[in-house]
Amino acid sequence: GAAWEREIRRSATPRRADGLSVLVTGAAGFVGFHCSLALRARGDGVVGLDNFNAYYDPSLKRARQRLLASRGVSVLDADINDGALLHRLLSAAPFTHVLHLAAQAGVRHAMRDPQAYVSSNVAGLVSVLEAAAHAQYQQQPAVVWASSSSVYGLNTESPFSEDHRTDRPASLYAATKKAGEAIAHAYNHIYGLSITGLRFFTVYGPWGRPDMAYFSFARSIVAGDPITLFRDARRDFTYIDDVVRGCLGALDTAGKSTGVSGGRKKSGPAPLRMYNLGNTSPVPVTRMVAVLEKLLGKKANKRVVTMPSNGDVPFTHANVTHAARDFGYRPTTSLEEGLRHFVDWFVQYYKIENKGGNGNVLAAGGKTGK
Ligand code: NAD
Repeated sequence: GAAWEREIRRSATPRRADGLSVLVTGAAGFVGFHCSLALRARGDGVVGLDNFNAYYDPSLKRARQRLLASRGVSVLDADINDGALLHRLLSAAPFTHVLHLAAQAGVRHAMRDPQAYVSSNVAGLVSVLEAAAHAQYQQQPAVVWASSSSVYGLNTESPFSEDHRTDRPASLYAATKKAGEAIAHAYNHIYGLSITGLRFFTVYGPWGRPDMAYFSFARSIVAGDPITLFRDARRDFTYIDDVVRGCLGALDTAGKSTGVSGGRKKSGPAPLRMYNLGNTSPVPVTRMVAVLEKLLGKKANKRVVTMPSNGDVPFTHANVTHAARDFGYRPTTSLEEGLRHFVDWFVQYYKIENKGGNGNVLAAGGKTGK
């Protein structure tokens, strides 16, 4: 009703002249939460959307939602496959951008629930692009969305550049992200939508994803449970603040070139872009665990095995010269520094006592939030 529309407009309205107005999908997720906070902090308007699914602890998503609400950002409970709702949302306020981060993440979970990947990452992306292409306001919002470094799959040329081959995905997750890139091309071609795809490389940090290795290893180390890690695996771990700066830079650049002040078809083709957002320095997963052990003051009970071919790739390594050239992207956070920020948040959020001692406990799984 009218109250709903008023609330959308309030949250979408920038607080600075020339501010952006951004619909963030997956805003209760790890990257979406941080991007929404950063956009709001610099005075942009933000409306979030998330379906709060139980792929990982929904109470962590709710805690992020509460923190966003305290900063004036609403996160609606909705699914990106609800096209009618997206259309209504994009028609309720003059959004300049859609930052589309909602997806089914995780590489190995795809073997348990393959259709979830098709539904959120393929059908869901189509739903978002349809809504953006047919937005009722004068302008189409520019779309910035998350692809993944996993599209490089079995590519062995390194560091990975945007023009390297991506035709050999090693997981269904990677295949859906690769399909998304083809779908983005079609929507840019047909509707003249400005679309920017971002290939993230293993993003980590406070308020992170409990299903990711660094996070689940931290929990296991504290609990004294064994961890299994893959011999010779290396990852281009990228700290969340660096990724957020990259996302905001991509949004600013996308807005500039479409002329967000209006006009459906501008002269010249609408931009279609693809950028790596990584850290440019791959680290052995064994070293990541050593840093965690030091920060937590406790040794891990490690089992090192050969990597099975069930979705993970042996290494990732980003070349970020394109993002540096177009919006000044420059990752600056070392793994040691980034993991220190993560561990500081982790012990507080889960109220871990006797840091470094023997009596570590994980209290109520963060259900009380913060
Ligand atoms: P996340 O799971 O924390 O966030 C995704 C959010 O989207 C979740 O809160 C989830 O509830 C929501 N969501 C999922 N399906 C939805 C649907 N159908 N409708 C509405 N909401 C839905 O993951 P993240 O780490 O924040 O990842 C953000 C994006 O970046 C995703 O597209 C992911 O594939 C991509 N990515 C992440 C990484 C990484 O290392 N974190 C790496 C590469 C790519």
